[in-house]
Amino acid sequence: MPTGSILRIAVPVPLYTCFDYLPPSGVDPTTLPSGIRLRVPFGRGERIGVLVERVSASTFDADSLKPATAALDSQPLLTDQDLKLLLWAATYYQHPPGEVIAAALPVRLRKGEEAAKLEITGWRLTASGETAQPTHAPRQLQIIQTLTEHPAGITQQALYALCGSCRPVLRNLEEKGWVEPCELKPQHPPTTRDSPRLTLNPAQRDVITAVSAGMQGFNAFLLNGVTGSGKTEVYLSLIEEVLAANRQALVLVPEIALTPQLMQRFQSRINSPIALLHSGLSDRERERAWLAASRGEASVILGTRSAIFTPAPRLGLIIVDEEHDLSFKQQDGFRYSARDLAIVRAQRQCLPVLLGSATPSLESLHNVTTGRYQGLELPERAGDAKPPRIDLLDIRSAPLNGGLSPALLRMLDEELTTGNQVLLFLNRRGYAPVVICHHCGWLSACPRCDARMTLHLGTRLLWCHHCGHQRRLYRECPECKGSDLRPLGQGTEQLEEVLAQQFPNHPITRIDRDSTRKKGALEKLLNTVHAGHCRILLGTQMLAKGHHFPDVTLVGILDVDQGLFSADYRAAERMAQLVEQVAGRAGRASKSGRVLIQTRHPDHPLLQTLIHQGYNAFAQVCLNERQQAHLPPFCYQALLRAESPSPEQPIGFLEDAAKQAKQLNIQGVELWGPVPAPMERRAGRTRAHLLIQANHRSTLHQLLGQLIPSLGRLKSARSIRWSIDVDPQEML
Ligand code: ADP
Ligand code: ZN
Ligand code: ZN
Repeated sequence: MPTGSILRIAVPVPLYTCFDYLPPSGVDPTTLPSGIRLRVPFGRGERIGVLVERVSASTFDADSLKPATAALDSQPLLTDQDLKLLLWAATYYQHPPGEVIAAALPVRLRKGEEAAKLEITGWRLTASGETAQPTHAPRQLQIIQTLTEHPAGITQQALYALCGSCRPVLRNLEEKGWVEPCELKPQHPPTTRDSPRLTLNPAQRDVITAVSAGMQGFNAFLLNGVTGSGKTEVYLSLIEEVLAANRQALVLVPEIALTPQLMQRFQSRINSPIALLHSGLSDRERERAWLAASRGEASVILGTRSAIFTPAPRLGLIIVDEEHDLSFKQQDGFRYSARDLAIVRAQRQCLPVLLGSATPSLESLHNVTTGRYQGLELPERAGDAKPPRIDLLDIRSAPLNGGLSPALLRMLDEELTTGNQVLLFLNRRGYAPVVICHHCGWLSACPRCDARMTLHLGTRLLWCHHCGHQRRLYRECPECKGSDLRPLGQGTEQLEEVLAQQFPNHPITRIDRDSTRKKGALEKLLNTVHAGHCRILLGTQMLAKGHHFPDVTLVGILDVDQGLFSADYRAAERMAQLVEQVAGRAGRASKSGRVLIQTRHPDHPLLQTLIHQGYNAFAQVCLNERQQAHLPPFCYQALLRAESPSPEQPIGFLEDAAKQAKQLNIQGVELWGPVPAPMERRAGRTRAHLLIQANHRSTLHQLLGQLIPSLGRLKSARSIRWSIDVDPQEML
């Protein structure tokens, strides 16, 4: 417990420090626990800060300290442990601590509003109401009878459901003193254990035994289990074990909105309140879930990336499902990795943490090799499901129709005729990635980016997927005024059109960002698929994530070649993960599955390894290459990015930054660049970056800790935007 009377407060401003204040006038500082919010004067205005600690001496002149305006909470919103994790993350990712801590709070609390009460208003009978005999008032009678059946009270919503909307009648009864409002604890939806409990197979039992043995302290596990091997079943069993010990479980998943099935599975199996935290919720709903978790009322916290910061006083286990997924890394602002922070949080709180994936990241596999994580495996599919057979289709010189080779079309025809469901994967939405003038060669470039505008026929737009710029279709070529403008290449929209021509009798469902833009649209489409009303399923990587399509027997992957020849050294890893995940949708039930991958490079060694020896062998080859090339995970990186509307400034700033870094004279750090970013112009700005690399994490952080806070003072920093990305996942 801190003892001093000076308040060290994290204020959400872009500065790399906390600020010292005096207590609000007349307030005894010892009544202020860390983790509460305070309103404080800052600059010309006021901000909402969080008390980090109380200290007895300020590094600033004590006379210059101002008093905080008011304390907003009596009970802490964040525990010391939560605060320490957040401050650790702020230092590690080189982000201002006030912004990091503010981002961990639900929006309304960030703005200084009162924390919502979890109780909700309901109605109950008063003592006189119990004997009341309203005559000639059937509606009143009905309400009194209903309330008699619910002696503890009933929510207004439930009452309306039973008696119809009855606000005026209720008011009438309240005036008579027969009913009164009351506070109710939230009723969690009644849980039905309708999903039959499966008998776990020996491999699953081994995994559970291993994790159970490590429940008493920090232990990191990587569960490497092929798609459909029963990882989720393992999570559910472990969660039940944790709940039985009266602890909480935190489960991170890539995107809940994409996998409503997973949510339902948790809700039907776990017989305890679950706090859901994802972007599809309103601010209020998120806040309620957050508070339920932090007050220990929710036993399971199931959420996306930012849920890693949810306070949980009885936390007993952290699970990160699909740990390889890029969405765990925030790509703007506070650029943290929720997966990596899961490990840090578990370590600091002495908890077990389980990472799971069918296609683990190379980093995590490397951590198993070095002994940091314990590797666990589920090498086979659960139940009767068999692994799919994967083949390459050489499409060199094949006449493609909408990107489909004759061989693939033939196979599709066979499967559809047999009555099976097929899935086609093309990671490009829209009709065509570019429009070309057949006469002069003009291409539909984005005026604001070094990129092409995608043709969207449905909305009759050209659309830049990098900056969002849109315009109506050209009637004629803007260069030569010619009228022969043609789409070049394929997107999902075009694929749907071609499939509809080829297979007019088979209903098609397309799933991509365009077809699922409206709220609830994805669920509707998935329901169509599950109800069997769809024979041909096509889409982008949205399809690759966690879905279970039991009737799919054939998966066609239209284009993998991009991943083989990208400038980004992670592209091959991502390609393989996508292929495995998409392939994993086939034959998950009793029907066996087949996967066909179209390529113009059928002899590529990486592709060959992936197809014939599987993902783990592929990952090993990639890791060897990374080691030889001295790339992560065999070194540590941070990327300093800069952008500006004026072309020279970003490089100028980065040169100054590099000079400053060199002057720090820290051995063992390499600087690469500055160089123009792979997409040099985006959204009207010129972009460049400087890669900072070291053999040891500590050396890298020694440099960053001194360099980053000083960059804002560079003259060249004034007119540009810059950011630092520690452990970057994308070099864009
Ligand atoms: P994963 O998370 O690895 O993809 P799931 O846990 O979703 O795997 O399991 C895949 C399918 O196998 C599901 O339909 C699940 O009900 C079934 N399954 C899992 N474990 C078993 C088991 N022990 N016996 C029979 N079926 C199982
Ligand atoms: Zn032209
Ligand atoms: Zn653009």
